Amino acid sequence: MSHRRILSTLAGLAAAALAVPAYAATPADAPSATQSSTSSSIAAYTGSPQDKAATKAFYDAVIKSARAKQAQQAKAGKKPSAAVTVTYAVDAPSFQSEINSSTSIWNSSVGNVTLVEGSNYDFYYTEGNDPRGSYASTDGHGRGYIFLDYAQSQQYDPTRITAHETGHVLGLPDHYSGPCSELMSGGGPGPSCTNPYPDATERARVDQLWANGFTAR
Ligand SMILES: [Zn+2]
Repeated sequence: MSHRRILSTLAGLAAAALAVPAYAATPADAPSATQSSTSSSIAAYTGSPQDKAATKAFYDAVIKSARAKQAQQAKAGKKPSAAVTVTYAVDAPSFQSEINSSTSIWNSSVGNVTLVEGSNYDFYYTEGNDPRGSYASTDGHGRGYIFLDYAQSQQYDPTRITAHETGHVLGLPDHYSGPCSELMSGGGPGPSCTNPYPDATERARVDQLWANGFTAR
């Protein structure tokens, strides 16, 4: 199917891309109670400054792409909508229902940005096996993608993983030390945490990041 081939090519091009931290470290990487909080394994588990830069790069790329399309529509005389529309493609057939759930969760949680599946996309979902688990990735100057890992999605709730990674696209960084009620705590609270909803602070942050989305300043 040609659509899938195009996406695979894009994934190949983005291979050298910055990766936002994986959804969760493997259990072996989890800090033990006796480990010092300054050890490097814990720094990796909770995210590094480089990971935060990657999250910001992905958000910057997506908002730039969405705004460019809005500007084109405005030129064509179309009335702008209040929310910025971010369009995605799905090259992850096993996760279609989780992606649909993630989209409705986000669209009912925030008002300044709307996720829509379609062509001329700003980012896409793909799937496979990766020892790093699931992650969001960008080349820093264009489109990004969300990788959903098979093995991790059997250990952790796949809808929470998908909504969490989508949170990166919307500009939220990881916060592994947070409680299960936070979406961006990711795998931090452990596999028993299945909450796929952003909390009030996360929702407010996304609305803040996408406020004035139409007026590119
Ligand atoms: Zn994450």
